[in-house]
Amino acid sequence: MSNDTIFGKIIRREVPADILYEDERCLAFRDVNPQAPIHVLIIPKKAIPQISAATPEDQALLGHLLLTAQQVARDLGLERGYRLVINDGAEGGQTVYHLHLHLLGGRSLGWPPG
Ligand code: 5GP
Repeated sequence: MSNDTIFGKIIRREVPADILYEDERCLAFRDVNPQAPIHVLIIPKKAIPQISAATPEDQALLGHLLLTAQQVARDLGLERGYRLVINDGAEGGQTVYHLHLHLLGGRSLGWPPG
C-alpha cells in the first residue's frame, strides 16, 4: 500500500502529530493549522486518496471513520455540536490526497462555507 503523502508519514510515525486516537483501521490527530478551537483529522490507514475514489469495498471503513469522529467529538466534550467535512478534489479545496474527515468544533460555525 503506498502512503506517499504527509498523512502516510504521520501513520508511519515519520512525522510527528498530536494523535488523539488510533486503532487498526484509522488515526485521529489535531490539524496543524486549526480553523476552529477544535480541529481534528480522522484518516483511514488505507491510502484512499479521496472520497471520490472510495469503492463499495470501503463501505465498512467509511462507516468506521464516521463513528470514530463521533467518538472523538464526544471525548473532546463537543456536546453543543460540531461539523464533519470531507473536501474532494481541486474545487472541493482538497490539499492532501489521503482521505480525511475534518472534525471542527468549539465555536459557532457559519454556513455556507466559502
Ligand atoms: P484538505 O485541505 O486536504 O481538506 O485538508 C488538509 C488538512 O491537513 C489541512 O487542514 C492542513 O492544515 C492539514 N495538514 C497538512 N499538513 C499537515 C501536517 O503535517 N500535520 C497535521 N497535523 N496537519 C496537516
